[in-house]
Amino acid sequence: MSEQTVDVTIIGAGPVGLAAAYYAGHRDASVRLVESLGQLGGQVAAVYPEKHVYDVAGHPKVQGQALVDLCVEQGLQFGADVHLDEEVDDLRRVGMNGEEVLVLTTRSGKAFPTRALIVTAGHGAFEPRKLEIDGIDEWEGRGVHYFVKPKEAFRDKSCVIVGGGDSALDWTLGLQDTAKLPVTLVHRRERFRALETSVKEARQLEGEGKVRIVVPAEVRDIRGDGSVHAVTVENTSTGEVAEIECDALITLLGFHSHLGSIADWGLELHGKRQILVEPKTMETSLQGVYAAGDVAGYEGKITLITVGFGEAAIAANQAIAKIRGEKVQPKYSTD
Ligand SMILES: Cc1cc2nc3c(=O)[nH]c(=O)nc-3n(C[C@H](O)[C@H](O)[C@H](O)COP(=O)(O)OP(=O)(O)OC[C@H]3O[C@@H](n4cnc5c(N)ncnc54)[C@H](O)[C@@H]3O)c2cc1C
Repeated sequence: MSEQTVDVTIIGAGPVGLAAAYYAGHRDASVRLVESLGQLGGQVAAVYPEKHVYDVAGHPKVQGQALVDLCVEQGLQFGADVHLDEEVDDLRRVGMNGEEVLVLTTRSGKAFPTRALIVTAGHGAFEPRKLEIDGIDEWEGRGVHYFVKPKEAFRDKSCVIVGGGDSALDWTLGLQDTAKLPVTLVHRRERFRALETSVKEARQLEGEGKVRIVVPAEVRDIRGDGSVHAVTVENTSTGEVAEIECDALITLLGFHSHLGSIADWGLELHGKRQILVEPKTMETSLQGVYAAGDVAGYEGKITLITVGFGEAAIAANQAIAKIRGEKVQPKYSTD
C-alpha cells in the first residue's frame, strides 16, 4: 500500500471538494484530496477564473479565481494531503490492520486507503470539445486555445472566437480591453444560445467596429507556420470561403465530461451523469461513500456552488460521525 490510511479521502479539488476538506479538517479528521487536473479549484479555476460570480452567499461580487483561492486557504488550513494529476480508477473494500477500509487506486498506480470517501468530482474528468479539423491537436500551444486564462495571454492579439454560448459571448466582450480589435466571433448558426444582453452588447460593438460577427459559419482549416496566422472560414449558407488573419483561435464549444471509472464502482446513478445520494446524509448506495456538489444527484437538486458547500458540510459531518460511531452534530467554528 503506497499511502497511510486517512479518515476521509475527497475525489476532486473543486470548490466543493475544498469545502469538504475544510469541514472534515475542522473536525480533526485526517484528509486526503485527489485531483485529476494539475491545479486546484475545479471548473471555476479551469473554465472561468476571470469571470465574476455574484451568487455565493457572503460574496456580493467575487472573481472566480479569487473565490477558489479563498476555498484553498480555508480548505487546506488543517494540512490535507493533496495529490494533483491523479485520476482515480478503482475502488475496493478490504480488511487492513483489523479495520475495514476503502482503497482507492489511481491511473498512475497509487493506492490510497481511507475510512470514508467523499466524491466531489463535478461533471467528472472533463475535456474541451474540439473542432473537427485534421491535426487540430498539433496547434495546441501554438495559437489554438480552449480556455481564456489569463487574459494577458491575448494582449494585442487578433483573436477568432468560435462558439455560440455564454463563454464565447463573454470572452468576445471580455477581451475588448485586451485583444487587438475587432474580436471575430464565428458561430455555426444565426442565433446565439448566450444571454440576450450579451448578444445585444456584441451586436452594438459590431456596429462600432470592435467585434466582427461571422454567422452561420464554420472554421474549416488553420493556417500558419509554427504558429496560427489565419483560419479559413466557410459561410455555411452561401458556401463562400474566407481567410481571416489571426494570432489566436479560441474555441469555446463546451466540454465532454465523463464520470469514467467512477461509474463502474457499482454506485447507483441519478440519470447518466450524477451519483444518487440520500440528501439527508449525502451517502451514496455504497456504505461509507458520500458525494457532494455537481456530481451528487437527487430529486430537486440545483447545481450551484452554494448548494455544494452545504452538501459538503453534511457529507463531511456524516462521514466523521459514522467513522467515530457518534451522533451527527455540527460543532461551531467560532472560538
Ligand atoms: C461558465 C460557468 C459559469 C458558472 N457560474 C456559476 C455561478 O455564477 N454560480 C454558481 O453557483 N455556479 C456557477 N457555475 C457552476 C459551478 O462552477 C459548479 O457548480 C461548481 O464548480 C461545482 O463544484 P464541484 O466542486 O462540485 O465540481 P467541479 O468544480 O467540477 O470540480 C470537480 C473536480 O473534480 C476533478 N475530478 C473529476 N473527475 C475526477 C477523477 N476521476 N479523478 C480525480 N479528480 C477528478 C475535476 O478535475 C475537478 O477539478 C458555473 C459553471 C460554468 C461552467
